[in-house]
Formats: sequence, C-alpha cells, structure tokens
Amino acid sequence: MSKVALIISMAGQDGSYLSELLLKKGYTVHGINRHIPLVANGQEEFFYNEFCIKSPNLHIHDENLSDASSLNDLLAMLRPDEIYNLGRVSHANAECIRSHHSLAADGISALRMLDAIRSQGLEHKTRYYHASPSKLCSLVNGMTISEMVMSNLCPLENVALVSDFWTVVNYRNTFGMYACNGILFNHESPRRSEHFVTRKISMGLANITQGLEQCLLLGNLNAQRDWGHARDYVKMQWSMLQQHKPEDYVIATGVQYTVRQFVTFAALELGIKLRFVGKGVDEKGVIAAIISPIAAALKVGDVVVAVDPRYMRPTEKCKVPANPTKARNKLGWVPETSLQDLVIEMVQADLASAKELARQ
Ligand code: GDP
Repeated sequence: MSKVALIISMAGQDGSYLSELLLKKGYTVHGINRHIPLVANGQEEFFYNEFCIKSPNLHIHDENLSDASSLNDLLAMLRPDEIYNLGRVSHANAECIRSHHSLAADGISALRMLDAIRSQGLEHKTRYYHASPSKLCSLVNGMTISEMVMSNLCPLENVALVSDFWTVVNYRNTFGMYACNGILFNHESPRRSEHFVTRKISMGLANITQGLEQCLLLGNLNAQRDWGHARDYVKMQWSMLQQHKPEDYVIATGVQYTVRQFVTFAALELGIKLRFVGKGVDEKGVIAAIISPIAAALKVGDVVVAVDPRYMRPTEKCKVPANPTKARNKLGWVPETSLQDLVIEMVQADLASAKELARQ
C-alpha cells in the first residue's frame, strides 16, 4: 500500500516541489489549496495545469479548513501517514502588502492540526511536519541560528510567531506525537514568487535584456541572506519525517551572500558585467561590459539597477547566520545546488519567459 501524504498549501513553491518528490517516491498525495488563483504566478500555473491535473495519485481539495469539522472529516477520510503543514509561512513584506498579496495564506495553526490528528485517533500513525516561519529568525540579531537558539526564543517576544513552534514541541513531549518543526532559511527557485528579492532580480534583469523593462529597483543591496534551492530543501522536509525520533531542524547552506552579489551573478549569467557606483539610496548598477549576445540590445554605461527607498525595510535584521550542523549530522543534509547554479536556473527560466513575452 502506498503511503498517503497531506500537504497544506500545495500550490506554492515548496508544496509543488514536495508533491513532485512524494509522487516519485510512490506516495498518494493530497493537497489543500484554497488560493491557487491568488498565489499563482506563471510557474505555479504551469505546475497546476501540467502536473497536478495529469497525476492520478495527486488530489487537490478545496475544503475550507477554518471549519474544524471539515478538517476532522478530511483526516478521517484520508488517515494520512504524513502531514506537511506549509500553510502558515507567509511573508507580509512591504511589497506584498502594497499589492494586497499574502502568500500561501491557508493558515492552519499547529494547534488545530495536532488537535485534529488526536481527535481522529491518529496520534501514533500520522507524522506531522510544521514549516516554522523563517521570520522567527529575525527575532534574534547577532546570533547564529541553531535549533537551540530557536527553542530558547522568549515566547512573549512575539507570541504569534512562536506559538506554532512551541505547540509542536509541546505535543511531541506531552503526547508522544511524531511532530517536527523545520526552520528553513531562504530557499528559492524559478517557482518563487516575484515578491521575493531573488525572483525579482532574475525576472527583472531578464526582462531588461529583452527590452521589457529598463531598470531594476531594489531596496537594501547590503542585506545578506542564506539562499538555497527549494528542491533540495523539500527533501529535508520529507527526511525529517523518516527518522527514528522526531526533532526540530534548521536547514540552510550556512553561507550568506548579499543582495548585490546575487544581482552581480544574475547579470553575469545574462552577459552583463556590472559596476556599482554611489552609496546608500544613490547606489546604481551600471553596465561595465557586455560579454554575451543575450544582452546585445543594451550598452555600456546603461543604469540597470537602482535603489528605491520604498523597498528598504528600516527595522529588519540584515544578517541572520544559520547553523545547519545538526541537519548535516543527523539527516545527512548537503545542499546539492550551489548559489551559482540556483542563479543560472532562475535566470534561464525567466529569460525564456521574457523572450516569449518579447515575441508577442
Ligand atoms: P525574506 O528574507 O523572507 O525577507 O526574503 P526577501 O526575498 O523578501 O528579502 C531578502 C532580503 O532582500 C531582505 O533583506 C530584503 O530587505 C532585501 N531586499 C532588497 N531589495 C529588495 C526588494 O526589492 N524586494 C525584496 N523582497 N527584498 C529586497
């Protein structure tokens, strides 16, 4: 009998890669996504149309799970071996707020999910993965984030952010449930929403080479992030539920790059050598050389990157280092995709879309 998995918020970046992984492993996959049209970008629509609809072992449910009886009925019907709750990872950053988007906003709390598992008598059958908001990490500045730091965060500091984390820990300790928190640092891919800086960069620069945009406007170019590939990270989500003992894990590459470096790598992949001039809000990315025909329509001296104060986040922690040692030792975690390869994949996908758009 194939294993049954339930994914909350399936049509986002992580949900789509995770579904693919589980289907390859022979699972029957059920997904909840009430907001496909809201979060869909080109890649997600592709996933939905080409992949979900054509996979006989993948089922999408549209239940309103804010109603407790719907959730209970669904669990009673599916009796899943594994539940992946990806639904509460939302990034209400300035850009999302401006455009009235709240990403992946199904929002089923750990408490409701774990209670529903118990109420169906599934507490010793169903394993539960909870995507802890990466925003949690911004609560601690100047510390390297490990599982220990996370569990020592003072809940009073930000009740809403840490309550799910602690619920998972408490249900594990109190009821012996197999429940884990995954604290995944930034993980990107061509399926990332363009509200995140990496996709904004790959899409913006690709569009510029095809004459669809003139200049990419960004916020803090000095901000540092630990970026990995979402495809690698979902393997760890799965792996966390296959261990002898449930535990929480930090997943990250352990290496940080600045936004400026990401821009530089993406531009190089498009045949543009950039030179940064000026400081702070006056900083500009100027073309220093054109090194491939992809960027032939541009010329040396063009300003293709500029800072726009609207995208600055005055209170954010710009540098939050991660320590993924525990995952490396216990889960065998090794990021398979380098940042350079991630950039290449994202840029090439966006270049193909930009060329298509330019042809129309
Ligand atoms: P986050 O780590 O979840 O906030 O992921 P983002 O991709 O939204 O942001 C990553 C970093 O890029 C943050 O430090 C942002 O301040 C920085 N950044 C700089 N310019 C931009 C921009 O134009 N858009 C976004 N989303 N982030 C930007």
